[in-house]
Amino acid sequence: MRVAIVGAGIAGLSTAWSLTKLGHDVTLIEQGSIPNPLAASGDRHRMIRRAYGEADGYAQAIAEAFDSWDMLWDDLGVSHYANCGVLGISQFAGDGAERFRIGLDRMGFEYERLDSREAAQRYPFLDAATFRYAYFDRDGGTLFSERIAHDLKAWLRMRGVDVRMHTKAVAIDPQNASVRIESGATVHADRLVVTAGAWTLRLFPSLAENLSIYRNAVAYLTPPADLDDAWSNAPAIVDIGGSSDGYVLPPSDGIGLKFGARAFKRSVPDAETDRIAGPDEGDRLRRLFAPPFSRIDEYTVTEVKTCAYTFTADERFFSKRIGKTLVVSACSGHGYKFGAAVGQRVAHALETDDDTTLVQWLRAETV
Ligand SMILES: Cc1cc2nc3c(=O)[nH]c(=O)nc-3n(C[C@H](O)[C@H](O)[C@H](O)COP(=O)(O)OP(=O)(O)OC[C@H]3O[C@@H](n4cnc5c(N)ncnc54)[C@H](O)[C@@H]3O)c2cc1C
Repeated sequence: MRVAIVGAGIAGLSTAWSLTKLGHDVTLIEQGSIPNPLAASGDRHRMIRRAYGEADGYAQAIAEAFDSWDMLWDDLGVSHYANCGVLGISQFAGDGAERFRIGLDRMGFEYERLDSREAAQRYPFLDAATFRYAYFDRDGGTLFSERIAHDLKAWLRMRGVDVRMHTKAVAIDPQNASVRIESGATVHADRLVVTAGAWTLRLFPSLAENLSIYRNAVAYLTPPADLDDAWSNAPAIVDIGGSSDGYVLPPSDGIGLKFGARAFKRSVPDAETDRIAGPDEGDRLRRLFAPPFSRIDEYTVTEVKTCAYTFTADERFFSKRIGKTLVVSACSGHGYKFGAAVGQRVAHALETDDDTTLVQWLRAETV
C-alpha cells in the first residue's frame, strides 16, 4: 500500500516507522525540518509516567507505551530514554499531585511515600515547610524527543522512505488520498494519514468542532551552583502541587533543567500565533515554582520555548476517518509518551480498516 503521511512530529514519524516495518511504501511530508522546533514534538525532552489521575485507561495503556518504545530502541540500536523516576509533590488536599497519587493507588502501582522532611532531605531544592508530602514512582522519566526524531528520520531514509522536509501540504483531497504541495506538485497515495498537530485545522477547518489550539511556553533554567548535584540526580516531577499544575524535567545527558505548567497554556486561533516568547515569560513561569522550591529567585532563565498543541474537550486523543484519509491527533498535552505506540496502532488500523479499535484505544475509556 502507498501511504502518504502529512506531518513528521512523533505521531507521523512513528506511523512511518511502523508502516515501513510492515512493508508499505511511505512518503512522509513535513513543512519544516525534522524535528521541527515549532512542533509539539520539537522540544528536547518529554516526560513518560504511570501516574494518570482519573484517566485510568491511559494508565493501563502505559505498559504498551513502554513496550513500543523498547521496540523502537531495538530498531534504532540506541535508547533515548532516561529512567530517572517520577516525583509528585502535594501542597494541599485534592491538588493535581494528590489526584495523580490516588490514580496510582487505584491502579495498584507501587510508589514510595515521603513526608516533607524526608523529601527535602533527599531533594534539597524543596522547601519542606511548603508542602504536605511527596511520592516517588521509579517507573518513568525522560524521553529525548529531539534525538528520537533525528534517529527516526535517519532510520526511515536508510529504508528508502521518501522523507520530504520543507514541503508544505496546502490542500488535501481526502476521498482520493492526494496531497497538494505548496510548490504545486501533487502526491497521490492509496491512503493518507494526517498527523499535522496544531496545524490540522488549516487543512481541515471543520475539525474545529473537535480540536482546539493552545499555545504554551517552557523555560530552561540554570539552578544555583550548590544545587547542581541535587538536580542532576533528580527525578522528573509530574506535578509540584498547588494550583499551577507545574511539572519539571531534570537536567540529563547534556540537556538542561526545564519547567512547564499546564495552567500556563492559553487558547490561540492558529498554531503560529504568538510564537515569540515575551520578555518576562520565563520569569513568570519560574515564579510559579515557589512553593514548593526554595530559593527560586536564584534560578536563571536561559531559554524560553513556545509551543502549540491541540486539545479535545475531554483531553482524550482524537482520530477521524474521512474517505481514504485518517486524521490523528494524539495530544491534549500528554501524547508524546504514547508516540511509538500510536504509530503502531495507526499502522494496524490502516492495514485492517478497523477504525473502531483505533478510536477506542486512542480514547482509552474504561467501563
Ligand atoms: C509544552 C508541552 C509539554 C508537553 N509535555 C508532554 C510530556 O511531558 N509528556 C507527554 O507525553 N506529552 C507531552 N506533551 C504533548 C506532546 O508533545 C504531543 O502530544 C505530541 O508531541 C504531539 O505530536 P504530533 O506528532 O501529534 O504533533 P506535532 O509534534 O505538532 O507534529 C505535527 C507536525 O506536522 C507538521 N505539519 C503541520 N502541517 C503541515 C503541513 N500542512 N504540511 C507538512 N507538514 C505539516 C508540523 O510542522 C509538525 O512537525 C507536551 C506538549 C507541549 C506543547
